[in-house]
Amino acid sequence: MKIETKCLHSGYTPKNGEPCVVPIVQSTTYRYDSCEAVADIFDDPTLGAIYSRFYNPTCDAVEKKIADMEGGAGCMLTSSGQAASLLSILNLCQAGDSFISSTSIYGGTINLFGFTLKKLGIECIWLKADATYEEICAAIKPNTKAVFGETIANPALTVFDFEVWAKAAHDNNIPLIIDNTFATPVLCRPIEWGADIVVHSTTKYMDGHAVQGGGCIVDSGKFDWEKAYKATGKFADMVEPDESYHGLKYVEKYGKLAYILKARCQLMRDFGCYPAAQSAFYLNLGLETLPVRMERVCANGLAVAKYFKQSDKIANVTYPGLDDDPYHALAQKYLPKGCCGVVSISIKGGRAAAMRFMDALKLASDEVHVADIRTCVLHPASATHRQLSDEQLVAAGIDGGMVRFSCGIEHIDDILADVEQALKAI
Ligand SMILES: *Cc1c(COP(=O)(O)O)cnc(C)c1O
Repeated sequence: MKIETKCLHSGYTPKNGEPCVVPIVQSTTYRYDSCEAVADIFDDPTLGAIYSRFYNPTCDAVEKKIADMEGGAGCMLTSSGQAASLLSILNLCQAGDSFISSTSIYGGTINLFGFTLKKLGIECIWLKADATYEEICAAIKPNTKAVFGETIANPALTVFDFEVWAKAAHDNNIPLIIDNTFATPVLCRPIEWGADIVVHSTTKYMDGHAVQGGGCIVDSGKFDWEKAYKATGKFADMVEPDESYHGLKYVEKYGKLAYILKARCQLMRDFGCYPAAQSAFYLNLGLETLPVRMERVCANGLAVAKYFKQSDKIANVTYPGLDDDPYHALAQKYLPKGCCGVVSISIKGGRAAAMRFMDALKLASDEVHVADIRTCVLHPASATHRQLSDEQLVAAGIDGGMVRFSCGIEHIDDILADVEQALKAI
């Protein structure tokens, strides 16, 4: 099936007389007839439902849908995008390990990787998104367990060169993790380009309506943990018995689902950052219309980018859909259906002019959100990226005059009229 059809029909197939819409199963727990039945499921949580940290039918249906949309083997929902990024790394790295990340990623992820994981003894090695194969290979150390990047970076809007990074990672027997939040599987499916793990903040386009936060981790099922373990000694805990789970061997027991079930059995068990069934239900409603919304936000994004481009009040427009954008060639290759609705602009006059422009907007609202159904704007230097040093801001592609303009699905004439009057007000 095509993605449009999967978004409606994957994950839940009602039988005769059952509800057409995924039901909300608002129960944290499940009743059993015998101790033995419960014990069996504790031995293998894939055999049934015991408790909401491990399973909920509403969440399960949405997990199956997202796995299918991304072309993955399995998926685990989390309570936020941050939780998904965190667990995606903790599932591979422990104190004393390192991983590589592109510098061109979401500000919250920069904090997580650069500060919080550092406190846990995990080192993040930073490389530019444009790093060459040789540079990536040279940065990989004996303790390096993964490589991380973002399809369309928030807010720098660089496009990740999957083929270069995937080859470097795989030639060194480590997996590639991709944050695919801005592209969504409608515009790009990183697994088709070599990614092994995909994470999302479903808070953005996937939910789309700004009604609930969430995240997910998708496992491609393609990374050969056993081969990598034999070649490098890395990922022992994917292959060797898990002492915290009565000697469970993930690869032996779960094969293609080893990574995602280890994440659930160990990390979701211990950290508990799972979504409510109600949140999964809302997420599913968003997913059903995602392809239609992505088509519209891509068209609006391109039109707005072209409008800004011809304005003399704008110093710079970043949108990989524009012919002269440095990432246009990569966008044509990896994002042929469009480059999402987010456009970054740099207003002439820096920070003060950017703030005047934003305050003058009437339709587009100033909010700490992006990739929504409604047009919204944000000033990264004073908001999402406020905690970064000037050096880190530059590395993430951000300056004081930068405004992140996120097109919703309103009529383009109304969005452009709003932009026009706000530019006049600067
Ligand atoms: C928002 C965002 C996150 C974090 O997600 P939350 O749901 O806010 O925790 C991670 N990555 C990207 C690209 C984002 O835009």
